[in-house]
Amino acid sequence: MGKKLLSIIVPAYNEQEAAPIFYETVKGIESQMPSVDIEYLFIDDGSKDNTLQVLRDLNAKDERVHYVSFSRNFGKEAGIFAGLQNAKGDYVVIMDADLQDPPALLPEMLGYLESGEYQCVATRRVDRKGEPPIRSWFARRFYKLMNKISDADIVDGARDYQMMTRRVVNAILDMGEYNRFSKGIFGWVGFKRKWLEFENVERVAGETKWSFWKLFIYALDGIEAFSTAPLMIASILGTIMCLVAFIFILIIIVRTLVFGDPTSGWPSMVCIILLVSGVQMLCLGIQGQYLAKTYLETKSRPKYLVQEEKLGEDK
Ligand code: UDP
Ligand code: MG
Repeated sequence: MGKKLLSIIVPAYNEQEAAPIFYETVKGIESQMPSVDIEYLFIDDGSKDNTLQVLRDLNAKDERVHYVSFSRNFGKEAGIFAGLQNAKGDYVVIMDADLQDPPALLPEMLGYLESGEYQCVATRRVDRKGEPPIRSWFARRFYKLMNKISDADIVDGARDYQMMTRRVVNAILDMGEYNRFSKGIFGWVGFKRKWLEFENVERVAGETKWSFWKLFIYALDGIEAFSTAPLMIASILGTIMCLVAFIFILIIIVRTLVFGDPTSGWPSMVCIILLVSGVQMLCLGIQGQYLAKTYLETKSRPKYLVQEEKLGEDK
């Protein structure tokens, strides 16, 4: 039996500077993992710069470098999915192209999987150095909320940097949903998992692809994908309002009986109408969000489209 294969999946969007540095750095520690063969699988997520050409060049230099190039930008989640689908390895690891996921951890991660004790080795960063404070604040709130309202176990600071066995990869691929939220999916599938921690590193080259707004939408998508708690808001608010209304009715009846019926109260009426219709709109909006997600799922469109690929031969 030959050596086992480790596939390194790298989603890359406009990473022409970072990709070669990434390749060289990881190559530098290959010697610390003598027990496996290595395959590099870059997913060019519709980059607008020269990333694809850089990948072609890397492939020409080293035939273990494979790539899939999307027809347009489909997002990092689609990139991860494509990577998992096309990786041939017995072990698979997902890494960012910008070296924010320290390659130095690879041998240790591999060790845990080879020992057979763990099916999955995940990483989390213990700080958020170099990040705007407001972003960190929102991120922390998000993880707290998410863990309260969903049954996917999501760890604060968890990265997509994970190494897993073929069994776990297949489990993740079985989750065919269109709206993919990897942090939730990884937590949802379970399996015996080892956590490694590291300190935040800044990216080596290029710049971050995530604006605050993009992250905010991503967080909302995550909540909608893994929790139906927001749908409860309508029922809860509805109940509260009925109670309040009931109390008001009693008060008004008593007041009318005691003091007669002077015509007043139109400002308060306007306030009530505004409040109630606002709440209705809000609840309708939340339901609409879920309906829209369902709508997209039922279309079952492909999660990505490939314009060019270079994959290894089947083992
Ligand atoms: N990425 C991607 N598609 C996108 C955005 C990002 O494949 O639409 C990749 C990007 O090339 C990088 C990884 O996802 O390898 C993480 O992105 P980035 O470093 O910009 O995010 P940050 O580390 O700032 O959260
Ligand atoms: Mg990064």
